[in-house]
Amino acid sequence: MDDRTAALRRAHELAQGFLDGLNDRPVWPRAAYGDMLAALDTPLPENPTPAEDVVGALAEQVDDGLVAIPGGRFFGFVNGATHPAALAADWLTSTWDQNAGLASMSPAAAAAETVAGRWLLELLGLPAGSSVGFVTGGMMANFSCLASARHSVLAAAGWDVAEHGLAGAPPVRVVVGEHRHDTIDRAARLLGLGSRSLLTVPADGQGRIRPDALAETLDGGSGPTIVCLQAGEVHTGDFDPFTETIPIVRRHDAWVHVDGAFGLWAAASPATRHLLAGVADADSWATDAHKTLNVPYDSGLAIVRDKADVQAVFGVRADYLIAAVEDPLERTPEFSRRARGFPILAVLRSLGRSGVEELVARLCARATQMAEGIAPILGAEVLNDVVFTQVLTAFGDDDTTRAVGQRLLADGTAVFTPSVWAGRAVQRCSVSSWATTREDVEKTLTAVRRAVSA
Ligand SMILES: *Cc1c(COP(=O)(O)O)cnc(C)c1O
Repeated sequence: MDDRTAALRRAHELAQGFLDGLNDRPVWPRAAYGDMLAALDTPLPENPTPAEDVVGALAEQVDDGLVAIPGGRFFGFVNGATHPAALAADWLTSTWDQNAGLASMSPAAAAAETVAGRWLLELLGLPAGSSVGFVTGGMMANFSCLASARHSVLAAAGWDVAEHGLAGAPPVRVVVGEHRHDTIDRAARLLGLGSRSLLTVPADGQGRIRPDALAETLDGGSGPTIVCLQAGEVHTGDFDPFTETIPIVRRHDAWVHVDGAFGLWAAASPATRHLLAGVADADSWATDAHKTLNVPYDSGLAIVRDKADVQAVFGVRADYLIAAVEDPLERTPEFSRRARGFPILAVLRSLGRSGVEELVARLCARATQMAEGIAPILGAEVLNDVVFTQVLTAFGDDDTTRAVGQRLLADGTAVFTPSVWAGRAVQRCSVSSWATTREDVEKTLTAVRRAVSA
């Protein structure tokens, strides 16, 4: 066997072993960062080692420090697992080693993105013909969309930011909800808009922006304005009211961006589609494929209604590039990059429209099952209306809530992650894995009961 064949065979066995063992390993890692560093931090090797041995040793050394995210009982943050079709296509994506920046460099990757992009717009109920940029995740999707927004609102004010930069430009107001994701602030900072340009609008008890307060904020000033709305708040899972807010924004000639990292997927199921009513009237939308769609990292989507606003920011005309129609690199900040369209195309083909619908409905059903199981536990509270995939819990005073979370991690059955909501310590439970079964939720509820009574 040559070195390549041996290494790939070993990697395949190790991958199978990891996946087969997911159900039985502790969900939270046995080893901490320091332990992992101790295991890996050897001097740089002087001499070669066969690839097969390297792969085998790596898998053995890191195993205790891996989080069982692709399993059925990781409910931390908002992290999807890996659907088999997406994972298998992702293996091939690495094998094919395509550079997805230019259509001429990989006609296959570019075409896969064009088709996947079209299907995504259809599933998410967004305007056909929008630009779809395949980026690393929600952060870069927000950044990319807001780059187009910045360009557009300044152009409308007679300022070409691509040519003149920001020095001397009219100030841009960035209006955000109290509970927008931190990546919105970070994107604004990266775009040179500065955190001072952010105007924060109060939200209701479910974290939804208040339309009356939004109108008041918009009326309180003028000039180039970007409004960032949210589909899916990470604690409550709830959605800003788009039918009420977008018409208000329109009266002010502002750009509307929607951060829907996981929530935009509510459109795929008739049971939750109403939460997104009116969202298609926005100008740009950010979402993730590595959350609700269960594609491996890293995979986000920057969607912008008007392609000209994307071209104005990311367009390139270098002589050595072979100009082709719609080069993917003109839709994202990157040049060379991974062919992220293949795993997305694969999972959409494998599930089909009905499969994505069923996936989204199932995640919601498991979240409801979780909430209904937690609420009756003595001392436990579910703090949100569970409208989508997030369950927000507390287990008494702050110290008790934190202790229950710690005991749950130590127990290893499942993972919730801590946060603060309305000034109170909470444990967040996000149902985002295609692999989560009814039994996984039942096992988790048993573990939560154990953690509460300990
Ligand atoms: C996860 C998330 C992000 C950031 O996405 P990444 O994929 O981590 O870059 C942004 N907004 C919301 C609402 C999210 O849930």
